[in-house]
Amino acid sequence: MMFDTVIVVDWSGGNDRGAKPVKDAIWACVARAGVTEAPVYLRTRQVAEAWIGDLIQAERAAGRRVMVGFDFPFGYPQGFAQAVAGSNDPLTLWDWFVARIEDGPKTNNRFDVAGAINLALGAKGPFWGNGLQRDVDGLPRTKTGYENPFAERRKAEILAKGAFAVWQLSGAGSVGSQALMGLPVLARLRHRFGDDLAVWPFQQLEAGIALVEVWPSLIAPEIAAQAQADEIKDAAQVRVLAQALSALSPAQLAAMLADGDAQEGWILGLGHEDALRGALRTDDPVPPPLSNDCFALPPGVAWTPVDDALDLLQERLTPVARVETVTVQQALGRVLAAPVTSLRSNPPRPNTAVDGYGFAGARDTGVHVLPLVAGRAAAGGDFDGAVPAGHAVRVLTGAVLPAGVDTVVLQEDVTVDGGRIAFNGPVKAGANSRRAGEDVAAGEVILQQGRRLTAADLALLAAVGVGAVQTFAALRVGVLSTGDELAEAGSDAGETQIFDANRPMLLGLLTRLGHEAVDLGRVNDDRVALAKALDAAQVDAILTSGGASAGDEDHVSALLRDAGAMALWRIAVKPGRPLALGMWNGTPVFGLPGNPVAAMVCTLVFAAPALGLLAGVGWQAPQGFMVPAGFEKSKKPGRREYLRARMRDGVAEVFRSEGSGRISGLSWAEGLVELPDGALTVKHGDPVLFIPWGGFGL
Ligand code: AMP
Ligand code: MG
Repeated sequence: MMFDTVIVVDWSGGNDRGAKPVKDAIWACVARAGVTEAPVYLRTRQVAEAWIGDLIQAERAAGRRVMVGFDFPFGYPQGFAQAVAGSNDPLTLWDWFVARIEDGPKTNNRFDVAGAINLALGAKGPFWGNGLQRDVDGLPRTKTGYENPFAERRKAEILAKGAFAVWQLSGAGSVGSQALMGLPVLARLRHRFGDDLAVWPFQQLEAGIALVEVWPSLIAPEIAAQAQADEIKDAAQVRVLAQALSALSPAQLAAMLADGDAQEGWILGLGHEDALRGALRTDDPVPPPLSNDCFALPPGVAWTPVDDALDLLQERLTPVARVETVTVQQALGRVLAAPVTSLRSNPPRPNTAVDGYGFAGARDTGVHVLPLVAGRAAAGGDFDGAVPAGHAVRVLTGAVLPAGVDTVVLQEDVTVDGGRIAFNGPVKAGANSRRAGEDVAAGEVILQQGRRLTAADLALLAAVGVGAVQTFAALRVGVLSTGDELAEAGSDAGETQIFDANRPMLLGLLTRLGHEAVDLGRVNDDRVALAKALDAAQVDAILTSGGASAGDEDHVSALLRDAGAMALWRIAVKPGRPLALGMWNGTPVFGLPGNPVAAMVCTLVFAAPALGLLAGVGWQAPQGFMVPAGFEKSKKPGRREYLRARMRDGVAEVFRSEGSGRISGLSWAEGLVELPDGALTVKHGDPVLFIPWGGFGL
């Protein structure tokens, strides 16, 4: 008895609250597997009724079971329904209200209906409270002289400390008005969805849709603690309660649903507050911050070899991305923050891989004739009874094998004659069938921490019953260009200016690497402006380009050095000038060279694997392969070189110029050739390492 989707609605008895989201209005929140969507503001009951109905319909069309919780009583104290609507069935009373309650955005007749009920009962109650200027016949404004022929509270309200009585129609917390204005809406939803909808606790919850009564105050302290700054209280209530209800285990929810009162209704979760609180407790860990000296270099090193630089990065950097639980539907491209274990086997039971006939055991060479038992086993069904030895049964692809069946013969290989089948052996035991768990066993680790989830991974997760996974939030990486000479692409640029080419390139690389690229714009060679831009960035890491060396106008390195957390990494690499690596208010900054070719190569070789560590994917070295050189070159020892390259006719060709300002060569290339640190002479046909863009994770 599980629900795929939980919707919690905070109802209101008032009039239209306007277009702008406000408190004490109708709010709703959708949650699946403990993961909530943003709360939704619904300005009137008419808007709410349409939105809820359409949402339920869409969920059902997608095959999801839906539980909708409303925060007003579904029933009245014992005896009221009988006295008013002539039946103890609360749903009869709902329909009685549908016939009498008139509702519009600006006005409704709830006080008149309540007064008429009081008069019909010949009593000074049970309803009281009048929010109108005019007096309403039969409806006392206060409890002076009030007489109530029924119990003041439902049994559930006696247990729910602080709950208001259903009879009060005005004043703070007048749940009585919400019920009068809500029950007709629920009644119409019932009729819209017919047998596919059941109301708890009055009906058996076997249908696809369940309406339940909820009360956020059961977990008021948790809601207060988890409310976000500036979050409207009603929004926090529906959000946190929806999260808790949708994160309950089947057993916990079943225990809650086992409660109830068939006439008065009940509050879901009443007396089970610990379970609700427990469902809210997330085990999403908070990452430790990076140390401020994580980019410090060992003293005395002049030019750091590439591998040493990479080793240092690998040693010092740890995941900084927040961990959050997301549904499988939201998880594409996300990085797992914890290993995932299968919740059940795939397939869960032995089944048939083909349409055919099932029986027990192997069959030798020769003709076999087996009597058929009645019935058939089809996918999704469970065959009733067992197939006796020496008998066969009709089976359809995907059907669970009936008891007494472990082997299937293809229907194309069978002649059917009345109640018998004939086929030629041999048939191996277990033929054309799938063993339970032959793909994945329950409890097996199916995906490791650090895995960036692919479409196929989502299939695997779904197949073994996993609905939500702990993932790292996408790493937010800012990109900032520096230089007095830079102009925006497409703008009017003076002859002394160049267009900012690095920013679109770096933003593009980050997106391809699976991060959330954040455009931090351009700043001049001005330390104050640069500091302001870095301060304003709300990101997990920053890539700057330009100004990273040790010259007069190299403000990135100067600023980071003044902040006391910068190291100028002179790495023995071409193309590449020094990298300025530093921490700015706890955020790692990768100060890349300004030359576009060097900026891209340094991003792929150094920043990309470092960002991978921050994002939680672990260290991922570029993957290349040896290919024959389609060029000649001799290089000196002492630094590693990366050449813009592409594969044509089975050989790696390189761009005609090595100039690090040649953007056309970057665009021409489809990867890089990596030449080792030592001296080397490359002749046509010599093996060289080619790393396609994809090998860098692009
Ligand atoms: P820098 O690292 O600031 O000394 O810049 C090195 C070279 O790269 C200079 O020729 C700059 O004009 C050029 N450059 C710097 N930033 C960019 C950029 N965003 N787009 C294109 N070229 C740039
Ligand atoms: Mg510059």
